[in-house]
Amino acid sequence: MGVTSGRGALGLFGGTFDPIHWGHLLMAENAREALGLTQLQFVPACVPPHKQQSRVTAAEHRVAMLEVAIADNPGFGLCRWEIARVTPSYTVETLRHMQAEGWGPIYLLIGGDSLAQLASWREPETIRQLATLVVVDRPGAEPAAGVRVLESPLVAISSTDIRQRVQAGETIRYRVPEAVRAYIVTHGLYHGKTKG
Ligand code: ATP
Repeated sequence: MGVTSGRGALGLFGGTFDPIHWGHLLMAENAREALGLTQLQFVPACVPPHKQQSRVTAAEHRVAMLEVAIADNPGFGLCRWEIARVTPSYTVETLRHMQAEGWGPIYLLIGGDSLAQLASWREPETIRQLATLVVVDRPGAEPAAGVRVLESPLVAISSTDIRQRVQAGETIRYRVPEAVRAYIVTHGLYHGKTKG
């Protein structure tokens, strides 16, 4: 479990964020409050190991959308550690980096779907030593061994849904922050041509 350290309690919320949406933000704010975090950092992945077959929007755009989405929340931060790397990023390396930066305890927020794949991640036991795993689930969900379950009002929004809606010319208002919607429009993202 996470070690107490100088900078304070840190929550790490990794994902592709292509794009970030209200479901992510609500879950993150809920976790920040419930876990008493000094800061919750979004960790956009550079080349997500499980998504290498699909096309992911350029890091520059995903980071810019994260920045405008979290700008008004002093409890939120952005971790560029994974996005700045050229090689695939592994969670265990990110945790070591954040610990070396003086954060602790560290909480790793993961979706219930990702938890099932934890055994296949690099150094799963070290991950459990460096961080407390927090799974966000619907109220009443069964807790898994050694994992903290955080109840959260889940909103059925996904980035896939946002991308498909833009492609189809459908509204994404109230599914993403207005500043994110404006960014998508300005840069012509998700129309099937402005990728990479
Ligand atoms: P995609 O549809 O492209 O797979 P996504 O919406 O699932 O994207 P990711 O960036 O892949 O977004 O997700 C990052 C993390 O956010 C994952 O742990 C995922 O479980 C979680 N997450 C995704 N959507 C929601 C939501 N609506 N509410 C809470 N957590 C979510």
